Amino acid sequence: MVSAYLDHAATTPMRPEAIDAMLPFLDVRFANPSGGHRMARDARRAIDDARDEIAALLGAHPREVVFTSGGTESDNLAVFGAARTGAPALTAAHGPVVCSAVEHHAVLDPVESLGGLTVAVDATGRIDLDDLARVLEGAAARAAAGEAAGVRLVSVMAANNEVGTIQPLAEVAELVRRLAPDAVLHTDAVQAFCWTDVAGLTAGADLVSLSAHKFGGPKGVGVLVVRDGVTVTPRQLGGGQERGLRSGTQDVAGIVAAAVAARLTAAGRPVEVERAAKQRDRLLDGLLASVPGLIETGAVPGEAGPDRRGRVAGTAHVCIEDVESEALLFMLERDELYASAASSCSSGAMQSSHVLAAMGVAPELRAGSLRLSLGWTTTDAEIDHALAVVPAAVERLRAGGL
Ligand code: PLP
Repeated sequence: MVSAYLDHAATTPMRPEAIDAMLPFLDVRFANPSGGHRMARDARRAIDDARDEIAALLGAHPREVVFTSGGTESDNLAVFGAARTGAPALTAAHGPVVCSAVEHHAVLDPVESLGGLTVAVDATGRIDLDDLARVLEGAAARAAAGEAAGVRLVSVMAANNEVGTIQPLAEVAELVRRLAPDAVLHTDAVQAFCWTDVAGLTAGADLVSLSAHKFGGPKGVGVLVVRDGVTVTPRQLGGGQERGLRSGTQDVAGIVAAAVAARLTAAGRPVEVERAAKQRDRLLDGLLASVPGLIETGAVPGEAGPDRRGRVAGTAHVCIEDVESEALLFMLERDELYASAASSCSSGAMQSSHVLAAMGVAPELRAGSLRLSLGWTTTDAEIDHALAVVPAAVERLRAGGL
C-alpha cells in the first residue's frame, strides 16, 4: 500500500549527505572540541567550519552563531537571556517582554512565565501591526511615567508552525526600533528556513532561532544568532563554550551534519519551493473540491481565499466541519497517511490550538483541524494518496464509522 508522510513541519528525514558527514565524528574523530591536543583541534575546526557555513547562510558573522540543543533551547535562551533574568518573574525594573499570540510554546511559555504581553494577529495569522504599536506605545508611556522600564524583548516568529503564515518582519523591526529602541528583537525562524531566504527575512532581528531537524539535520541541534552588541545572559554556566553563552560540550557530529543539511536546503530552495507550492496547491484544491465542509484555514469571509503566497510552501492547513481531529488522524494513520492536527507536543495528546484561537477560528472548526506539511522528500504519489484517503476517511467518520 502507498503511504504518505505529510508531517514535515514536525520533523523531516535527515539528508543522507548529513548522515554521512556526521558518522566520522561518532567514532574516529570523536574528540572533545574544547581540548588542547591535535584530535581536539580537529573537532574544533569541524565546528568552526560548520559555524562559518551556517553564518554565511544566515547573513551573520561566524562569531554571532551560538550552537544549542535545538529550537526550544534557542528560544528560551533568547527570551530569558534578553530579559536578563533567571527569575520566574520580571520586576518593574526589568521592563516587559512582548510576543505575538501565535508563537510556538517555546517562545510563548517563557514570555508568559515572565508576565509578558501578547500581540493580536489577523484572520490569516499575520501579526496586527496596529496592536503591536499600541502595546509598544503603552509600555513606552508607562516607562516615561516612571512606572516601569522600557520593553526588553519583542519576539515575532518568521513563519508559523501550524498554519505557515510568514510574518512581516521588516515592518515589525521598523516599529520596534521606532517605539522601543532599547528592546531586543528576536525571531523564531525554525519553520522558515526550508522555505524562505532567512538571511533576508530576518536581517532586522537581533536574535534568530533555528532547529536542524526541521531542515534535514539531526534532532537536538539548534542555532541562536546573537548579533554583535546584543547582550544575552546565559542560562547555563560551566565550561564557557559558545562564547560563554551556552556552556556544555558541543555535539560535534550533529553540528557538522546541521551545516551540511543547511547548505543543501539553501541550495535547493528555489526549486523545492516551486515544487512544494505546486503540490500544496494541488492538495488543497483537491480537498476543497472533494470534501464538503472543508475550509482552508485563514480564509477571510467574503474574500476569494487565503493568500497562499503569504504562507510557507510546505504547509497545507484545513479545518473540517463535523469531524474530530483525533478520530480523523487515527483513520488516516490506518490508511498510512501520517499528519497532525495542531503542532506536535511531547505527550502526543490533542491540545486546542492557541494559534487557531488567536486567528478567530470558531471552536467547533478548531476541533476538526488538520495540518498536512510537505518537505524535501514529498512525492506526487504521496499527494495522490492524501487526495484519495482524506475524503474517504471524512465520509466514513461522518457516517459514524471508525
Ligand atoms: N519553534 C517552532 C516554530 C517550531 O516549530 C518548533 C518545533 O516544532 C520549535 C520552535 C522547537 O524546536 P525543537 O523541536 O528543535 O526544540
